[in-house]
Amino acid sequence: MLPQNYDRKHLDAGTVLFRGGEYGDAAYLIETGSVEVYLERDCGETVLARRGPGEIVGEMAMLDGRPRSAAARAITDANLIVITEDAIARRFDAMDPVLKMCVSVVLARYRETVAILQAEAGDRVVAPSSSRRDPQAFAGVIETLVLEREMTGALERGEFELHLQPIVQLADATIAGFEALMRWRHPVRGLLAPSHFIPAAEASGFVSYLTDFALAEVARILPALHDVARDHPAAIAPLPFISVNVSGHDLNRTHFAHGLADTLRSAALPPQSVKLELTESVLMEDPQGAAALLSVFRDRGIGVAIDDFGAGYSSLSYLSSLPITTLKVDRAFVHGMLADDKSRKIVHMIICLAQELGIPVVAEGIEQAAEARALKEMGCALGQGYLFGRPAPVSSTLQLIRGWAEGARSAQAVTRTPERATAARSRA
Ligand code: C2E
Ligand code: CA
Ligand code: CA
Repeated sequence: MLPQNYDRKHLDAGTVLFRGGEYGDAAYLIETGSVEVYLERDCGETVLARRGPGEIVGEMAMLDGRPRSAAARAITDANLIVITEDAIARRFDAMDPVLKMCVSVVLARYRETVAILQAEAGDRVVAPSSSRRDPQAFAGVIETLVLEREMTGALERGEFELHLQPIVQLADATIAGFEALMRWRHPVRGLLAPSHFIPAAEASGFVSYLTDFALAEVARILPALHDVARDHPAAIAPLPFISVNVSGHDLNRTHFAHGLADTLRSAALPPQSVKLELTESVLMEDPQGAAALLSVFRDRGIGVAIDDFGAGYSSLSYLSSLPITTLKVDRAFVHGMLADDKSRKIVHMIICLAQELGIPVVAEGIEQAAEARALKEMGCALGQGYLFGRPAPVSSTLQLIRGWAEGARSAQAVTRTPERATAARSRA
């Protein structure tokens, strides 16, 4: 979910922000200037409060769902940040589950108290309306917590594993590297894909433990991978990389970049053999923090790919300012490319953009040889998808490389004839 940027509002001195009796769905954080809250009476006005920079006005309407009990206006020119219920709800959804539950309970109690006081005073009782009181939402929190506890045990018991999916040079169908994709070998539910556990791991922050595990695994796997690569130069680059998906939680950890570089150094692995994949929305959550961290990766020689490019925020401005080394075109565009002219144009535009920036593009989700051919003709350097290989355990991946050399000869035809491409894939 993308963070919703807050709107801003400028008020000239004397301008009314809201009046008493209005319903409101926003509070206002004062950035600069000052605002007064006042009661309008037949006999004049009574000022209730004055608020300045860093203070909030208008929050009560959001808390009790009742009409505003007072008016507010700027005393001096003022700049305000508009905090809508929607924006709060989005951030609320991404909050630590226990904190979220606590806030929900406190708000629910507050609203119940207001309703009781209203009833006692003979007022019209406003039913608490917030979806945050929804028992289903609470059930979701419990589920997340249970899953988090289960994941902790699973990590200790070694139930997580990395599967590798090849990333291929479209020019000659040799393997350039792999993406590491997490799987949970659940004792009861079988092999679980990330959709079953990454969302809960993201919600609770547990995902950082999974990232640490993934990076340690990658450091463990790489030497064997490099050995096999040395023996099969016709199939694979001499130093294939493994790219690892990282989350926003990882970027908040200050030691992350240095820790990764140390892990690689102590395993005597070249830094280019690991890449990190992060999405645009992760970058946009904290652009300054991300910029600082990415420059550490650049200095250490660790590549950074933007995952699912085109599917999210796509604020192109960060591309010029951040040290990005690869763009991964989202699967949805590649999938639609042959049938839908718009998708094809978007893919082409991304490839041209990357060429301007001097960085390679990986097209994700290539399932058909015709897609691979079209991408190659557009100048796309790298491809990933079921056509070349599904994510597979490490042992199967080493086998795949050994079988690739033979397959690669015909796999060069992946980008020529669809029939032979299928043959190359099944051999691979
Ligand atoms: P992603 O990073 O975009 O990974 C690519 C996903 O597309 C993978 O799904 C992969 O199996 C799938 N895929 C690859 N080629 C094709 C294709 O030709 N057709 C189709 N239909 N799908 C294809 P998977 O393994 O289920 O992973 C889903 C998502 O979970 C990943 O999307 C990534 O966002 C997340 N994820 C996976 N492993 C990790 C991890 O270790 N850490 C974190 N934080 N996230 C992870
Ligand atoms: Ca990825
Ligand atoms: Ca992706």
